[in-house]
Amino acid sequence: MAFKVTFHFSYKFRLLLLFTLGMMVVGWATSNYIVGAIQEIPKAKDFMANFNKAIIWGTEGTVTEEAPKTKANLESCPSPSPYLKGQNKLIFKPDLTLEDVQAENTKVHRGRYHPEDCKAAQRVAILIPHRNREKHLLYLLEHLHPFLQRQQLDYGIYIINQAGSKKFNRAKLLNVGYLEALKDENWDCFIFHDVDLVPENDFNLYTCEDQPKHLVVGRNSTGYRLRYSGYFGGVTALSREQFFKVNGFSNNYWGWGGEDDDLRLRVELQRMKITRPLPEVGKYTMIFHTRDRGNEVNKDRMKLLHQVSKVWRTDGLSSCIYKLLSVDYNPLYINLTVDFWSDP
Ligand code: BGC
Repeated sequence: MAFKVTFHFSYKFRLLLLFTLGMMVVGWATSNYIVGAIQEIPKAKDFMANFNKAIIWGTEGTVTEEAPKTKANLESCPSPSPYLKGQNKLIFKPDLTLEDVQAENTKVHRGRYHPEDCKAAQRVAILIPHRNREKHLLYLLEHLHPFLQRQQLDYGIYIINQAGSKKFNRAKLLNVGYLEALKDENWDCFIFHDVDLVPENDFNLYTCEDQPKHLVVGRNSTGYRLRYSGYFGGVTALSREQFFKVNGFSNNYWGWGGEDDDLRLRVELQRMKITRPLPEVGKYTMIFHTRDRGNEVNKDRMKLLHQVSKVWRTDGLSSCIYKLLSVDYNPLYINLTVDFWSDP
């Protein structure tokens, strides 16, 4: 009997021992898991914070750390630009060199510039028709680059050279400039610019408006007075769409005169209205020169002007045929050379 009792107790005791041991193993295993999980929580929190940081860049108003500045995420440049100086006394140094102008404009690359700290209001292509006027070009580049940078524009300067000895065709060169410049960039605005006119006042903005703009109200050589009420020569600003709408300039004006009046008629036919800056702002200095050989007065210009309403659709950008001889990306300008070999 005594043996039986001892056996009975010992069996229960062994069961209890087994159960206690089992519980201890389960307890140890669970506590290890829980401690591990708790230790993992801060890591997950860090991960989520970093993850959020990555996605809030680009969400307006919630940027907690400064995002790297790229052209896409810059704020718009202030209007008016804080760098404008107004009327400027122009000096033309006789011994100026292209190297001097390059040294003053180290932020211009391959003829182009854009502000580093803000997004320019417009991308502007300056188109300058040219033949044998190197000194004028040098003075214009010297003044125009800082002038455009003070206006905080995203711009490119194109010089369009006419090769050969045919009569000069300013208007057709400008059509070529427009068509070729659009292969580089979808420019918003085009400034059609004579090489011998230098702007005096940087309040005269080289941007396009909802109507074509004539920028030369007056020049020093004519007492700063508008030449005549319909005058649309020297320097004009038309948006990409405005210029396209009028089919650009006529290609048929060889020699001096008439092509700018023709463009005004095209603009008026499209019921657009020319705007101008105030007289004290639209002031230019004309660099003196005698008439070039190959740019004699165009005696046919009056006859051509009478035909504008009939021919503008077929004579212009849509019919501008030329041979592009070269395109060079110089530090301060893009140099195009064209030949109008097949023209009369
Ligand atoms: C010509 C224009 C020229 C203007 C001012 C006009 O007679 O046709 O081409 O811009 O004179 O010189």
